[in-house]
Amino acid sequence: MRMRQIRTTVILLVLIAGVIFCAFYFEKHPFLENAGRPTPTPEPQPSPTFRAFNPIRTVEVSPTATPSPTRDPDEETAQTEMADVVTRVYTAEEGIILTFNYSPENGELPYVLEALEKINAPAVFFVKGEDLAQFADDIISIIRAGHEIGILMEKDSRLQADRLLEMVEENERLLRSYGYTDEVFVRTAYGTPTDTHRIVASRGGYRLISFLADLMPANVSRLTEPDQIMSVVFNTDNNVALQRGEIVSFQMGLFQYSNTVLADYIQEIVAKKSVYPVKRLSSMLDNKELQYTYPLKDEQILPEVLNAVHPGHLVGKDVMSELEKRYLGADWVDRASFLPGFTREEIIRLDRRGLVQNNEGYVFLTFDDWGPDETLTKLLKVLEKHGAKATFFVRTNNIGYNPNLLRAIAMAGHTIASHTDSHFPLSHDTGNGRVFETLTDEEALDLQKDLVLSYEKLQRVVGDIEIDGKPALSLLFRPPTLAVSKIGLQTVIDCGFHYSVSGSFSTEDYKATSEQSLYWSLLRNTKSGAVLVMHMSQNSIYTADAVDKLLTEMERRKSPLKFVSLSECLH
Ligand SMILES: [Zn+2]
Repeated sequence: MRMRQIRTTVILLVLIAGVIFCAFYFEKHPFLENAGRPTPTPEPQPSPTFRAFNPIRTVEVSPTATPSPTRDPDEETAQTEMADVVTRVYTAEEGIILTFNYSPENGELPYVLEALEKINAPAVFFVKGEDLAQFADDIISIIRAGHEIGILMEKDSRLQADRLLEMVEENERLLRSYGYTDEVFVRTAYGTPTDTHRIVASRGGYRLISFLADLMPANVSRLTEPDQIMSVVFNTDNNVALQRGEIVSFQMGLFQYSNTVLADYIQEIVAKKSVYPVKRLSSMLDNKELQYTYPLKDEQILPEVLNAVHPGHLVGKDVMSELEKRYLGADWVDRASFLPGFTREEIIRLDRRGLVQNNEGYVFLTFDDWGPDETLTKLLKVLEKHGAKATFFVRTNNIGYNPNLLRAIAMAGHTIASHTDSHFPLSHDTGNGRVFETLTDEEALDLQKDLVLSYEKLQRVVGDIEIDGKPALSLLFRPPTLAVSKIGLQTVIDCGFHYSVSGSFSTEDYKATSEQSLYWSLLRNTKSGAVLVMHMSQNSIYTADAVDKLLTEMERRKSPLKFVSLSECLH
């Protein structure tokens, strides 16, 4: 009878938690189903109709507070400070963060702690006030295992900020009485943090932690095998990884039929879905060297970078002589059918080799589009291993989902450049790849908007980074598919780009059938001045290894060629 009661209570609790969790989960991760991995949600915005309970109260500025620039301390209606919600760590550092919402249900804790120890992974356990008091032994075992602890804040619907803060502080005192000496974080028990939660965090000087990816949707609660759970959570896409700086959240007490599956699941995720080590939250948050503000504010962006792309740069200039100077072509883009809008006389004046002439033996590795953490991190490691610098022509429409990765490329000393926002073509392929059509005037205007947007996105992530005294964000441009037209190129140069660079050899690495064949084609086309066009996308599966092989071979031959960024020669 007693067992049945307990079982019924447990099932009820799990069901309630499941429903709440499900609601929260899908609210935060509407894209998970089709994207194969959680797509980051925008930072939660304060509700416009909700105001602070006590706006007159003078507020101390805590380190986590977002100061309101217009705030006048003398004004009675001064805004109340609200802490930022940390959904990921904005950093170029390699690392992910594991967090748990503690629950005593199922007796999972010892298995979870054992798993974390086995994979040498620190974590943050968020605990509710009542559990802190009632399950002291569990909390002490978390502390002894060296993990960080946070407090789960109540729903704020009935509580005022003052009362909520008192409760959090009370909980912190209790936690300290157990011997916990590290930073205490806060998180909301359910749902997105509200203004009240943000005020409480700010007043108390707590960092308010949310998460990017909840890897515990309610629909996995009946599963018992990590592989089954992974296939639900990550869908069918097996090549997706957790993002750099990502905060991952696990809910304890969710699994109904096993108290060890959570522990197994964590180990599987870290082994199979992260190319990064697990790190301590406070150490990643406090790594000032690799941390940054996202989006960067105007005053943080280098003056020569800030808003450098806007229309009007060709006003009063001879268009054709500017294009002649600023277009580096490609050998296959060589005749009128490929260059709509240009006359035959003009085509003769255009570059059709795609080389960047120099006397230093420079070769230029270039990578187009955008990619996931595993592809890009692997590529960055290869380049670092050989001391090579490259140019990354970024298609920007997805970088907002993973700005840390873009930041990491620039912080590694590579040049960042635009490849449009939406892969907007500079001319249209009519279908057979032999004849291209020009853009209409209307399309040229759309291209213009796209170019400004693309650069705006780039400058908000890497606009403050300098490499050897030069901005990491360059005014170089690569046309999508390398197809161009006169009006298209004119639009690019009019927007302020200094060079449109196609390249001397297009590897078509996304179609490569083996590492060896890609390596051979790279090797054959490597010479002084060569601009090698490759891709950073997930389907360029042989690219990093082929580049590794190429650079290794060059070192073996003691080649005088040097692999540098295009900004060494073009600025
Ligand atoms: Zn492209």
